[in-house]
Amino acid sequence: MPTDAITPDVLTVPRKRPEGPVNLVGLTREAMRQALIAAGTPERQARMRVGQIWQWIYHWGLRDFAAMTNLAKDYRALLAENFVIALPEVVTRQVSGDGTRKYLVRIAGGHEVEVVYIPEEDRGTLCVSSQVGCTLTCSFCHTGTQKLVRNLTAGEIIGQVMLARDDLGEWPVPGAPKDETRLLSNVVLMGMGEPLYNFENVRDAMKIAMDPEGIALSRRRITLSTSGVVPEIARTAEEIGCQLAISFHATTDEVRDRLVPINKRWPIAELLDALRTYPKASNSERITFEYVMLDGVNDTDADARRLIKLIEGIPAKINLIPFNEWPGAPYRRSTPARIRAFADIIYKAGYASPIRTPRGEDIMAACGQLKSATERARKSRAQIAAETGTSG
Ligand code: SF4
Repeated sequence: MPTDAITPDVLTVPRKRPEGPVNLVGLTREAMRQALIAAGTPERQARMRVGQIWQWIYHWGLRDFAAMTNLAKDYRALLAENFVIALPEVVTRQVSGDGTRKYLVRIAGGHEVEVVYIPEEDRGTLCVSSQVGCTLTCSFCHTGTQKLVRNLTAGEIIGQVMLARDDLGEWPVPGAPKDETRLLSNVVLMGMGEPLYNFENVRDAMKIAMDPEGIALSRRRITLSTSGVVPEIARTAEEIGCQLAISFHATTDEVRDRLVPINKRWPIAELLDALRTYPKASNSERITFEYVMLDGVNDTDADARRLIKLIEGIPAKINLIPFNEWPGAPYRRSTPARIRAFADIIYKAGYASPIRTPRGEDIMAACGQLKSATERARKSRAQIAAETGTSG
């Protein structure tokens, strides 16, 4: 690790921020550069400082400026004066019998969201939330019964990845031999909220996750699931470049209007058109169609055949999700025989159609079961802006 050749006297006069320290977690490189300059870092050094600090935060997982040994002591003091490295607070941590972990985390304003880690043999997936509650009200989804309270900031989204890495002990140790295995190898934006209704924060957070000098997650290991916010789909490819999943769940507009009400805004035909032109889709990067199996609602052989017809021409794979019940849910899971019959029709048509194994059901961590106690209090825009440190 290089020692800092820059001597202290080149620093401009530190200017303490009247509104208190800025959280560096979640800032883009450019926003961090601007913030460092505003705090007194000479402009010509700022890009290099961003590189150094970025590595400490996102490669080594450091939270204490004093330990950033390749920076001069007085510069570390300036950083500590003006900035913090803060993650959402873990309120509860539950571990399921199958190893799935669910974290209830608290963010600014005292709101809470759920985050789920699903371990596999030699890797693991983190299911990340992007909103407190949800803009939408999909009728099979527990989160859909929780009104939107607010969008998460980029810091609160990438913070979920960082706190899970803390819990898994996934940060490299200086001097220790390089270990390529990753316990947290995949991120899916399938937690609470519709990520495309919080586009900029989700984009910035995922770009931090993909940054090669930090957490360095491959874009092919990040999947964003949307219920069908058509205008933002192409933008996802251009500005994030991750894998795409669609909360599809029905094969007629009449049924999808009931299950995924955004369908009334962008019906199946419009959604499929957007997917047919999705710039990132290819045989090696297929779009995942998520299909929750609801008894007597969307699980007939005719539905299976219609599904195949609808997605013709789209590089696709289909994920069949046995419905995970939650208190007061208006549906039941299709029978195992029905799910298998449905999967067979899909499979015979040439599509991979894995049946998703429910994980973490005993701790209400399975797909569609997430919900936090936070209810939407009457909050003005100004209050939410103050909470998230963003302009109202
Ligand atoms: S499925 Fe997704 S978009 Fe629909 S209510 Fe649940 S969290 Fe929101």
